[in-house]
Amino acid sequence: MKELIWDTIVIGGGPAGMLAAISAASEGKPVLILEQNEKLGKKMFITGKGRCNLTNACDQNEFFKNLVTNPRFLYSAYSHFNQGDLCRLVENAGCPLKTERGDRVFPVSDKSSDVIQALEKLLAEKKVTVRLHHQVSQVVLDEDKRVKGVEANDCFFACKKVVIATGGNTYRSTGSDGSGYTLAKNLGHKITPLRPSLIGLKTVEQWPQTLQGLTLKNVAVALLEGRKQISKIQGEMLFTHFGVSGPIILTHSAKIKKNPDRYHLRIDLKSALTAEQLDRRLQRDFLKNSNKIIKNSLDDLLPKSMISLMVDLAGLDGEKKVNQLTKGERLQFGKLLKCLPLTIADYDNPNTGIVTAGGVHLKEIDPATMASRLVKGLYFAGEILDIDGLTGGFNIQIAASTGWLAGKGLVSAK
Ligand SMILES: Cc1cc2nc3c(=O)[nH]c(=O)nc-3n(C[C@H](O)[C@H](O)[C@H](O)COP(=O)(O)OP(=O)(O)OC[C@H]3O[C@@H](n4cnc5c(N)ncnc54)[C@H](O)[C@@H]3O)c2cc1C
Repeated sequence: MKELIWDTIVIGGGPAGMLAAISAASEGKPVLILEQNEKLGKKMFITGKGRCNLTNACDQNEFFKNLVTNPRFLYSAYSHFNQGDLCRLVENAGCPLKTERGDRVFPVSDKSSDVIQALEKLLAEKKVTVRLHHQVSQVVLDEDKRVKGVEANDCFFACKKVVIATGGNTYRSTGSDGSGYTLAKNLGHKITPLRPSLIGLKTVEQWPQTLQGLTLKNVAVALLEGRKQISKIQGEMLFTHFGVSGPIILTHSAKIKKNPDRYHLRIDLKSALTAEQLDRRLQRDFLKNSNKIIKNSLDDLLPKSMISLMVDLAGLDGEKKVNQLTKGERLQFGKLLKCLPLTIADYDNPNTGIVTAGGVHLKEIDPATMASRLVKGLYFAGEILDIDGLTGGFNIQIAASTGWLAGKGLVSAK
């Protein structure tokens, strides 16, 4: 019997792999997806809290501002397949979409499974073969260092091209267990240091734990490396059993490029007021409550659960009457409200990172094709690459754009 030779084998059935397969099969070529899980899109299923924030409908400038690492590498992939292309593809496959606050795009049904079903429908229409429970252990090359197939479950699958779309190494139970990095390394590719991104942060200070569950809205949090401010963001944060989390903190975590313990946070609890405005406000509040004890005078200013803590951190005696407060103590308290310091100890459990930053070194990949510069017939797509974005649908779009281009199987000009 003649051995079947696939045109393209895609390793991994996440969004990058599914888009690569649809794109490759659209050229009329036989395509096989090998996925180690029992189903496709296991990570995609849990995205957007089960609703799948598929992409972001912002304009191109804004889109690239939301890519944290190596945004320029994506220019070509994005020009081949952008947010509009992804939305049209998914909607035409029977999954209507809607755009919410912050240009975030979700399925109208609020069910990630509907997006996955739409992609599966396209895979079936394009006659892509899917083999589940198949873990690829090796990409096999011929003597000219050209791809000739892959090994999975002790079987050899012959092909002309391979797309490695195996994801990162966080939320490992979804299948992105980091095995793709080993495949890439064994083929001679360098992997830039991996770190979790979009993740909560452990703090040296223990006091955040006493506020576990408290969300602060409309605060401004600055991230500093030593004395240098890296960024400052306004929005929502959350205290947890390990330190801090919530949207602002996740975004800051993406900007941590060195050991996390080199960084600090400064929380401005009253970001709508200047220091002078806040002091006038404190004077008014203290005048109104002049006969109360300090810890009973701050209800209008702070969440209840934070009052004792803030009084302690400011070194004040909470049992003292407000009218006994000195000007110096009032100014000191105001200063703390504007600049509550926290020292970062580490990331939360690395497995809880929404994405993995770092990955296959982009110097060894042609951005115009997603082809390896080291191995002929080899392509990469998705989170395995050293590109990552912020929350808001940017990471699935990275996976889709790179997947689509990789699937084309274009040959590099040089
Ligand atoms: C909780 C959570 C929420 C998220 N929410 C969003 C969101 O709303 N919007 C957004 O844009 N991004 C979100 N992300 C990020 C997004 O899910 C990823 O960036 C995206 O899934 C990456 O796609 P991928 O195809 O590259 O990798 P993955 O989705 O991880 O897929 C890789 C696949 O490869 C398979 N695989 C790995 N190794 C092998 C092997 N050796 N052989 C065979 N198969 C293999 C895995 O089993 C897996 O199915 C979220 C992530 C998490 C964890």
